[in-house]
Amino acid sequence: MSDSPTDPNASFSPIVVSGIQPSGTLHLGNYFGAIRQHIALHEAHESYFFIVNYHALTTLHDAEALRRYSHDVALDYLALGFDPEKSNLFLQSDVPQVNELAWIFYTMTPVSQLEKGVSYKDKVAQGLSANAGLFNYPILQAADILIYGGTQVPVGADQKQNLEICRDLAIRFNDRFGKGTPILPVPEPYILEEVAVVPGVDGRKMSKSYGNTIGIFDEGKALKKKVMSIVTDSTPLEEPKDPDTCNVFALIRLFADEAKREEVAGAYRAGGYGYGHAKKELLGLITEHFAEAREKRKELAEHPAYVEEVLREGGRKGREQAEKWMTQVRDAVGLITTY
Ligand code: ADP
Repeated sequence: MSDSPTDPNASFSPIVVSGIQPSGTLHLGNYFGAIRQHIALHEAHESYFFIVNYHALTTLHDAEALRRYSHDVALDYLALGFDPEKSNLFLQSDVPQVNELAWIFYTMTPVSQLEKGVSYKDKVAQGLSANAGLFNYPILQAADILIYGGTQVPVGADQKQNLEICRDLAIRFNDRFGKGTPILPVPEPYILEEVAVVPGVDGRKMSKSYGNTIGIFDEGKALKKKVMSIVTDSTPLEEPKDPDTCNVFALIRLFADEAKREEVAGAYRAGGYGYGHAKKELLGLITEHFAEAREKRKELAEHPAYVEEVLREGGRKGREQAEKWMTQVRDAVGLITTY
């Protein structure tokens, strides 16, 4: 954030917000692209991390699966080091005010802006039904951010357009209702590190829609099978290989420290090092990287009441914060409440 006197957020305290969609099992792409940044940020600022189950309903129509994925995301975050004493982790649907704010934003968003939504067009092109929820997804996302007074949003490159819609809404809201004083902050992207796209086992972007993922908590035979299935070219074992064009190395690079990276890249270039060797190396790196989290997750899975309590308390704090902002928003737009 800039400190210039024209900083639109100068009068707001810094608040980090981010949502996580419970629409599938979290995978290595989610980990390196988003979760790792969330874990790194969550202790440093006032922050709100929520499991966006309303958003998941745009594509997931299986109640049991939605409940399971929602619970699993909470388990995953806690196992990966999220400390509920330092931040708030909760379910989006525990803060119903978010839909109230979304409605107000619906009335302020040009349809033409949503029609340009890359994410919407991508999902429809992938064969998902073009429901109104999917179309209006960025509006609910904007409400998610602004209802907590979010000033900083950790985002990947794929989310930048949606954040622009959110920023436009905040600016429009302030212009229309602010009478010269901004009511809502204009959130900024919080890019901790530029993350390369994590490839899936078939070499395309790792994504649950492509069925090419390696789950963060995959282990044993299932993990081995996935790692061994990573697509490589057919360069014979003895010949030199280019690490920079190899899907296995792209994953090794994410887990390995500098020295290990250099060592493996050297082995690729020297020849006599096969893709099977590289896959074994990767398997070891993944297993080691998540060893502690895997143990913690198993322990947490034995204590569902604890996980529920974390979500309940996070939700309570989320509602409190949301109500604070909604009181100002209702007043600004002229909605009368009599209760
Ligand atoms: P999916 O593509 O599996 O549906 P999501 O769209 O739910 O994943 O991704 C949530 C976040 O995880 C994204 O905003 C992005 O930051 C990150 N992410 C997902 N897949 C990848 C990937 N392959 N490489 C890097 N980041 C990713």
